[in-house]
Amino acid sequence: MNDTKPLRRVVIAGGGTSGWMMAAAIARTLGHTVDLTLVESEQIGTIGVGESTIPPLVNFNRILGIAEPEFMRAAQATFKLGILFDNWKYDGHSYFHSFGLSGKDHWSAGFQHFWLAARAKGCPHSYDDYCLELVAGLQGKFAHLPEDRMNYAYHVDATLYGRYLRKLAEADGAKRVEGRIEKVELDGETGNIAALLLDGDRRIEGDMFVDCTGFRGLLIDGALHAGFEDWSHWLPNDSAIAVQSDHLGPPMPYTQAIAHDAGWQWRIPLQHRMGAGIVYSSGYLSRDEALNRLMSSVGTPRIEPFDIKFKGGVRRKQWYRNCVAVGLAGGFVEPLEATTVHLIQRAVLRFIRLMPNGRVSERDAIEFNEQQRQDIEQIRDFVILHYKATERRDSPFWRHVAAMPVPDSLQQKIELFRETGRTFRKNEELFAENSWVQVMMGQGVDPQSWHPIAEKFGDDELEKFMAGLRENVARTAATLPEHHLYVARYCGAEEPQ
Ligand code: FAD
Repeated sequence: MNDTKPLRRVVIAGGGTSGWMMAAAIARTLGHTVDLTLVESEQIGTIGVGESTIPPLVNFNRILGIAEPEFMRAAQATFKLGILFDNWKYDGHSYFHSFGLSGKDHWSAGFQHFWLAARAKGCPHSYDDYCLELVAGLQGKFAHLPEDRMNYAYHVDATLYGRYLRKLAEADGAKRVEGRIEKVELDGETGNIAALLLDGDRRIEGDMFVDCTGFRGLLIDGALHAGFEDWSHWLPNDSAIAVQSDHLGPPMPYTQAIAHDAGWQWRIPLQHRMGAGIVYSSGYLSRDEALNRLMSSVGTPRIEPFDIKFKGGVRRKQWYRNCVAVGLAGGFVEPLEATTVHLIQRAVLRFIRLMPNGRVSERDAIEFNEQQRQDIEQIRDFVILHYKATERRDSPFWRHVAAMPVPDSLQQKIELFRETGRTFRKNEELFAENSWVQVMMGQGVDPQSWHPIAEKFGDDELEKFMAGLRENVARTAATLPEHHLYVARYCGAEEPQ
């Protein structure tokens, strides 16, 4: 018999970005039916990184009814139009993965086919010249345009963003408990989680638990042993050092990902400081050398650099029994394309869509796991692409990644594009066709042919079509203000509530 009394008590373990995103969204949407408690430990703290995001976060904030200038002030956020990849195809080469569309697609073929045909006819212009977000990004410009014509995300201070979400969640009725979870109590009959046992002999009971305890996975792994699928044979980076520093120049509307001989470095420009770090594979680079490289390339540090160890992979079940693992507790693909906050967002919205009404259904768990796994696998493939498709062979690390076998799904995508210039977005994949095109071409996968529709134009007609698109982008970019001036004006425009 189905017990339809609403599930009353939801307990979130952990108060990092994932914990507070979950709390804010549940409290805002279902605060009227759910008794929501979040447990976190200030002493343990959060991971302290996770500052570059992707465009769907704009929607998440809208769903929560967040006023953008207020949020940006609170999180010291800047706008992000994409990622500048330095040294990935080879040392000294750069390309930009923007959030925008390039040129104009035909229903039968993406714009890259027209660009390839024009290139073959001698048109010298880069694929970059056809994308507004890309041109504006490189010029350090930004503005909101009518009809959301500028597709953007944010750089946020992770700690400040967490605090901001906490304020929202608490205002909507979420209860926060400060304390250290020492034990997870299981129900002897069902095997479900019954309660969290905290320091000071406190006990927090719940019907549904959300594990947001980061890499520890205290509930999903420590108590329920849901298992972990290791992807480090595809994602060999396992270490990072992070720091916060002064700016080296005005904050640009893009993240920088600079490859080195055993990984890469990030630079994330916020309003008040720069987030920076180095990601590396410990089998190929020592910690001291990584630290030297990082510290010799950033502005004046504002905190002591700190180390993070990680492993690429995913929980075999992200929803298991009455526990859903979200954020780093659920799985991790290294931060190259800044996708983890997005995976959190997807998990949060998905969980709310599947919120049990009554007892927890195993069917909901199966659905959640299938959908969530599909998301993370697609992101995994996209990130592996940056390593696999490269001309770099200048170090053991790059020789290793260039030679490694990759998932069949990715191999098919690369070879299809190389042979035909085609790529397809399937199953609501996060990264749309133009993301794949930009990164594949940026990494050096050069299509050998293109769709016959592109031959429909006569030579002059094609040139005119291409020139019109280019001029439109250049003209619009020229009207945009400097990004840092726009942010200052936009964030000063309204007083904090
Ligand atoms: P955490 O921040 O680790 O939070 C865990 C919480 O659990 C904390 O509140 C902690 O106190 C609590 N906790 C743990 N144990 C206990 C206990 N026993 N009792 C009580 N509380 C406990 N993502 C992006 O989207 N963009 C990026 O640019 C990006 N960069 C990254 C760079 C690196 C090097 C790494 C490793 C990750 C990066 N990520 C990025 C991922 C990002 O850090 C996470 O998505 C985000 O911070 C969410 O983390 P979390 O909330 O899951 O875990």
